[in-house]
Amino acid sequence: MENGAARTAPAVIVAIDGPSGTGKSSTSKAVAAQLGLSYLDTGAQYRAITWWMVSNGIDIDDASAIAAAAGKPDIVSGTDPTAPSITVDGTDVAGPIRTQEVTSKVSAVSAVPEVRARITELQRSIAAGAENGIVVEGRDIGTTVLPDADLKIFLTASPEARAARRSGELKGVDVHATREALLKRDAADSSRKTSPLAKADDAVEVDTSDLTLQQVIECVVTLVEEKRAGK
Ligand code: C5P
Repeated sequence: MENGAARTAPAVIVAIDGPSGTGKSSTSKAVAAQLGLSYLDTGAQYRAITWWMVSNGIDIDDASAIAAAAGKPDIVSGTDPTAPSITVDGTDVAGPIRTQEVTSKVSAVSAVPEVRARITELQRSIAAGAENGIVVEGRDIGTTVLPDADLKIFLTASPEARAARRSGELKGVDVHATREALLKRDAADSSRKTSPLAKADDAVEVDTSDLTLQQVIECVVTLVEEKRAGK
């Protein structure tokens, strides 16, 4: 090898998509941290723009009002997998974007094409600036945002496994109610016209129902390493 750069692993772009409760966020963060890659939580960006719409009194049922306001908030995502952050107009919204209110409204806001265009542009510029490579998690990363990603993973899990994980995270929330809310959100995300939740044809599908988080992380790390080795 002639120089240090030649010894450095090439920047790799990894797209991880799937519905909620499949372990997407925990897996993506851990894989990025383990491999020295940046990390982008695109769901947090859709939640952030939803939080801004709600905070500014925009009627969530009025798609044209949402479209007209889509360009207004300044959303900044930190890409360190060990300390992910998100701000809107300089305010830290990491906590407020996880409320029940935002969760119940995010699918409607993220279905608006002007919102998707704005957030997709942001995502592409963050990925393009990640010199060491990046793990980007979401719903349409492999199909729409980064169709040329080096590796695409689609995580799935049974509705029961997903509901059990989510109600565990939310502590004390009823599993049945969580299951119904999850399925409703997935149905909305999968059936919208603009870039719905979908598996890319060239994505590797991993069913996480019977796997521990550690097993899923190891599986994805192996897939990234194989890709880097050109296998
Ligand atoms: O991943 P998370 O559950 O935080 O995503 C919240 C919502 O953001 C999803 O239910 C979906 O409506 C929207 N989303 C999206 N496209 C993405 C990521 C998230 O539409 N790439």
